[in-house]
Amino acid sequence: MKCPHCDTKQAFSSIKKSLRKAQACEKCKEGYVLTLSVSRMFLLILPAAASLLVIRPVNLHWGISPLAFTALVSVLYIMSCLTLVKRALN
Ligand SMILES: [Zn+2]
Repeated sequence: MKCPHCDTKQAFSSIKKSLRKAQACEKCKEGYVLTLSVSRMFLLILPAAASLLVIRPVNLHWGISPLAFTALVSVLYIMSCLTLVKRALN
């Protein structure tokens, strides 16, 4: 994911830490936090729900557990809604 200030790619470890506390970008030293984008959640709920409904029969055909597939889609959904936002450092 990229810094909301300067678009520099951020290290996964600092992104993970930004869940709890604002982290400083390595390049511009501005703070950011990881959060769920509400607008993206609204935007992606339809494709996520549709993929569950459409792919479910295919799933059963392949013998993949619908529960595992639902979990996978949910994880992908949450991950696509994650975004870095500007946040002042303490
Ligand atoms: Zn930056």
